[in-house]
Amino acid sequence: MIVYEGKAVFEGIAIGKIYVYTKVEQAVKRTKVEDTEAEISRYADARNKAIEQLKQLYEKAVKEVGESSAEIFEAHQLMVDDEDYIESVEHIIRTEGVNAEYAVAQTGDNFAKMFSEMEEEYFRGRAADIKDITERILNALSGAGAGGIESEEPVIVVADDLAPSETVQMDKEKILSFVTVHGSANSHTSILAKTMSIPAIIGVQIPLNEESNGKLAIVDGFEGKVYVEPDADILAAKKKILMQEEEKKALLQRLKGKENVTLDGQKINLYANIGNTKDLGLVLQNDAGGIGLFRSEFIYLGSDSYPTEEEQFAIYKQVAQTMAGKKVIIRTLDIGADKQADYFELPKEENPAMGLRAIRICLTRPEVFKTQLRAILRASAFGKISIMFPMIISVDEVRQIKKIVEEIKQELDDAGITYDKEIELGIMIETPAAVMIADDLAEEVDFFSVGTNDLTQYTLAIDRQNQSLDAFYDSHHPAILRMLQMIVDAAHRHGAWAGICGELGADLSLTKEFLAMGYDELSVSPGSILPIRKTVLETNVAEYKQQ
Ligand code: PEP
Ligand code: MG
Repeated sequence: MIVYEGKAVFEGIAIGKIYVYTKVEQAVKRTKVEDTEAEISRYADARNKAIEQLKQLYEKAVKEVGESSAEIFEAHQLMVDDEDYIESVEHIIRTEGVNAEYAVAQTGDNFAKMFSEMEEEYFRGRAADIKDITERILNALSGAGAGGIESEEPVIVVADDLAPSETVQMDKEKILSFVTVHGSANSHTSILAKTMSIPAIIGVQIPLNEESNGKLAIVDGFEGKVYVEPDADILAAKKKILMQEEEKKALLQRLKGKENVTLDGQKINLYANIGNTKDLGLVLQNDAGGIGLFRSEFIYLGSDSYPTEEEQFAIYKQVAQTMAGKKVIIRTLDIGADKQADYFELPKEENPAMGLRAIRICLTRPEVFKTQLRAILRASAFGKISIMFPMIISVDEVRQIKKIVEEIKQELDDAGITYDKEIELGIMIETPAAVMIADDLAEEVDFFSVGTNDLTQYTLAIDRQNQSLDAFYDSHHPAILRMLQMIVDAAHRHGAWAGICGELGADLSLTKEFLAMGYDELSVSPGSILPIRKTVLETNVAEYKQQ
């Protein structure tokens, strides 16, 4: 067994034979020509042919991988038609009196080199696109056809790098995974692999010859490893993971697109919890109805200094746009306790879980809070955003918050900046105090979301970070379950809606109970959405209540 490592761009396991994909390289010769104008018209024909092929590829890709991934073939059409590129080829033909193939190859090399030396990673990635269109025009000049996979069974495609046109030409049924020696995480091959939901690893130093070709291999997109001729125990272990993954996928396929409605017609929203924009792919794959908790503090934790309004705005806007009108609940900064960022210079505390954290920091450092609120409000013009405030203990806090939100709205109005004027405001219920005054709080806000992780810690007086207390920790403690009922009832009495975004929300043994309590929403990690949907679809709430 040989193990190669690389950078995984899509998770999953693939087991199968390796197919080493080698390009049909065009050996371009430089030859002198008499009639340069005839050569230029050959080049024009080849260009038209290339554009025609790209149009067809675009259509094929739209059907197979969707419009946004197909856009690359539109971009390639523009590149083939690019004035600078055309001018360069024609110039070489005329001044050097050479064949079109040589002029195209020369131009392609020059342009690719220029892009690969650019500073920004995005432009460096475009060098591969230049090579791709150059190869296409060369094929059109020589009349060569397009490459594909010659194999009866599905294979692991191993290549030096793959151009988008090569991946889309391949028969998808025959591809288990992509492994490339080169390529970037932003390359279109990676994007296509993600859209096709197949494991892909880049930057793998695997030999592209008989040493690999045809051999049995495992691609582990979780670990970023390729096992060639795996040992029996590794093979058995990975097969087990593969089977579990396939079961999950089958569940996903059956339940995707279905409404979360019980047998007796009660509906519930199933949303996803996220920590950063990287989780958005999973949110969409798992068919979340929205984002119920965006833990915005991760933006602060991933930074060496306070993230600026612009940095935050760009992130919130991206999330809102990706969710395309579905609800995105952004929780304001919940730093402190177990989540520390040095630049906040928070005081050392005896009892950090009960210290200066979350909304307490925001209210004592209004400039930090206001920067975040401005960013969120500005982003609200690009989707359906709600704002949620953590660790609330009093009505007075909520009123202070609402006053600050109004101030920011006024500032935005004065500056003529658009935002959602009806933006929903909600609070997390994660302290026993908030539960006890839930009726008063519900009058102030549009929604409640229960943070059962903290609510359990503060109610049972059990530090959620302390593993040695696990024996005492009862997540189904009657105190918590009764509180959950009190919270949703208080919300509904005052026209607010209520959800759960703590880990308990994903506890399948309580899904029926949450429905019976009347919860409107559960927000859980993306992978838990479909299993909960399954339970919802199988539940009869009226019958459950009678038991
Ligand atoms: C909670 O306390 O349940 C919660 C969702 O917030 P966090 O886990 O981020 O504290
Ligand atoms: Mg919490």
